[in-house]
Amino acid sequence: MISHGTFNMICWIWIAVAVIIFPILLRVTQPYGRHSKNNWGPMINNRFGWFIMELPSLAIFGYFVVFKANLFNLLVLIPALLWGLHYIHRVLIFPLQIRTARKKIPAIIVLFAFIFNIINGFLNGYWFVYFATEYRSGVLMDMRLIAGVILFLTGFVINKYHDLILIKLRPASGNGYKIPYGGLFKYVSCPNFLGEIISWTGYVLVAFNLPALSFLIWTLVNLTTRARDHHRWYLKEFPEYPKERKAIFPFFLFTWSGSQS
Ligand code: NDP
Repeated sequence: MISHGTFNMICWIWIAVAVIIFPILLRVTQPYGRHSKNNWGPMINNRFGWFIMELPSLAIFGYFVVFKANLFNLLVLIPALLWGLHYIHRVLIFPLQIRTARKKIPAIIVLFAFIFNIINGFLNGYWFVYFATEYRSGVLMDMRLIAGVILFLTGFVINKYHDLILIKLRPASGNGYKIPYGGLFKYVSCPNFLGEIISWTGYVLVAFNLPALSFLIWTLVNLTTRARDHHRWYLKEFPEYPKERKAIFPFFLFTWSGSQS
């Protein structure tokens, strides 16, 4: 068993890696989806890539909470249900929903994401086996859990709703892109990413541990930079693109609304 001190140190190192990667992702566009490039080595089927790269987060986390942790403890059960809801959808449903016929994803992206999900699934699952505290009813504890669950589910709905708008923009056999409208697209280019960030913020409140915080920080690093790249791409590709939209946070001025540099 890893001691609590060592485990926390691993989490802090993992957070430091995310912080180091942030300025890199501000310069290097992640080459998948609309930014896909074929000079990043071998490519594999996009649908299969999504399934395989997300699988470790479901399988490894699932192994720890189902077979090793105490699911009768509400402080294990609630975060486990939320994690399961998100990853059962992401691994088993999302890859079947996307309309990316004949599209490929660089194998190196799938490999990076696969490794990321092994570490993320391990840290988040392992914590519940060895370091989870017992649930004791109290106003503060209950309010934190309720707020966390509401935030998670709100983000989940925002993420899925806007992912579906995007997916349906394209005919089943097509590969092109259109300007998305409806819902929070009125304010931002990537409301699906905003929903994902809200979800994992809620999860931090529920799980209340370092692995959950590290995952939120990684999600912020990945999705704010990807949203900026998407936003700049829309502005470049569509002269009629709504100018008042921000990249990911409504009304948020910062450089995320800037033109292609
Ligand atoms: P995108 O918004 O880039 O794409 C979502 C889907 O919609 C893709 O199938 C894409 O096709 C299609 N699509 C997007 N925009 C358009 C458009 N304008 N016209 C037609 N089709 C469009 O999301 P990602 O693929 O980056 O991410 C998918 C999910 O994974 C999201 O829910 C995201 O939140 C989550 N995610 C989470 C991360 C985390 O760190 N927690 C990291 C990365 C993703 P195509 O692929 O061909 O572009």
